[in-house]
Amino acid sequence: MTEHGGRRWRLVLISSPLQGHMTPMLQLGSYLHSRGFPITIVHSELNRPDPSNHPDFVFFPLPNNLSGTSVSSGVIQFLQALNDNCRPHLEKHLIQIINTQKETSEKESIVIIYDNLMFFAGSLAADLRLPSIILRSSCAAFLPAYRIIPQLHQEGRFPIQDSLLQEIIPELHPFRYKDLPFNGLPIQQILEMVTMITPKTPPVAFIWNTIEFLEQWALTQIHHQYQVPIFTIGPLHKTSPTLSTSFLEEDTSCISWLDKQSPKSVIYVSLGSLATIDAKVSTEMAWGLASTNQPFLWVVRPGSVHGCDWIEFLPEDLVSEMKVRGMIVKWAPQKDVLAHSAVGGFWSHCGWNSTLESVCEGVPMLCQPFNVDQMLNARYLSYVWKMGLEMVVERGEIESAIRRVLVSKEGEEMRRRAMEIEDQVRIAISHGGSSRNSMNDLVDFILSL
Ligand code: UDP
Repeated sequence: MTEHGGRRWRLVLISSPLQGHMTPMLQLGSYLHSRGFPITIVHSELNRPDPSNHPDFVFFPLPNNLSGTSVSSGVIQFLQALNDNCRPHLEKHLIQIINTQKETSEKESIVIIYDNLMFFAGSLAADLRLPSIILRSSCAAFLPAYRIIPQLHQEGRFPIQDSLLQEIIPELHPFRYKDLPFNGLPIQQILEMVTMITPKTPPVAFIWNTIEFLEQWALTQIHHQYQVPIFTIGPLHKTSPTLSTSFLEEDTSCISWLDKQSPKSVIYVSLGSLATIDAKVSTEMAWGLASTNQPFLWVVRPGSVHGCDWIEFLPEDLVSEMKVRGMIVKWAPQKDVLAHSAVGGFWSHCGWNSTLESVCEGVPMLCQPFNVDQMLNARYLSYVWKMGLEMVVERGEIESAIRRVLVSKEGEEMRRRAMEIEDQVRIAISHGGSSRNSMNDLVDFILSL
């Protein structure tokens, strides 16, 4: 147990049950454990992490009684039920610890680090007078982007009129109105969502799974708004790798398939752990992939196509044609795939983890964002970092977009930028780089609490 000047620390990390949030939380836990802190991972029963992959952590499951609510049946109801149901169990547990400490006069400082979707933890920590730090696993720009929505609504700029969609929002340059999160949902739901995820109790600090050089503007904005330290320690999968954190089983046979492909020839296609699409869109994707000359690795997550178990809706002749040059799997070891020398491009929904994983390997991207922060990430990739292409998912367009990212002259600049950014990431995570320094600062900060 970390002991400094006679004091001891206990870090309680409260994770959310979404794949893209759980992974960075476990990675953060691994780093802090490597620096001597005992780690308790608090998690809901839904999508529980595998304790055998993290033998050094204590796991504390919270019964979530979600009674049929899920992300797909309504995000607001899901998050509210999750938070309401988890709070009493953690409260009881923490009070027990605090009382035992009083009885034994054991001096141990408890620090709460919580995923921003588990917002109950912020108010619980405040009620118990414990310091709390928020871990954010989206891009930094997501915070100013959703926080401006109520103001835009008051000024009549949101919901967005069609004529404004392509325009840049002056307060959020270079993001456009169409890049704003939650667009398309009923306005009352959006405002409710924004209120729900805006921290009510200011944390003592933020930890962000991002890299300073990628998001300077957004980080400055947040700093002005909250005036608390922001530790930019990303990309966590590089700064603090862990054993697999996947909820689904990874099909590792795709790695031996990749071994047989030429360098930078494969387009890897995955839409993450949550996005769902119509069979019509998926069929367009399949035709587009079948018509390209490039080999491809396509992840179709079971249940990700509306009303279908997997790919049974695709015509058999199309599937046979696809198998000539491609491989379709249910879930891939994505980080290994992106790091493989055969992969030359990533067709992605642009979730933040996927974005960072591609950025780190210098893999240019084809962007098909759906919601939340994905449009912002796609804008970063295509317009700011210039290592991605916004795509139109129609079979005729897909083939040329893939050629552009992987082979054609037009895409050369994009491929060059991807490599340049990969180099900058390497510097940020090396000794003396911004992410490394921030990780050390985070440890000092926790010790100062
Ligand atoms: N992922 C994976 N295998 C797959 C697809 C995705 O391991 O076949 C991982 C990916 O590496 C990333 C996470 O799932 O770490 C997805 O997170 P992201 O933020 O990109 O998107 P989300 O799933 O939250 O929409």
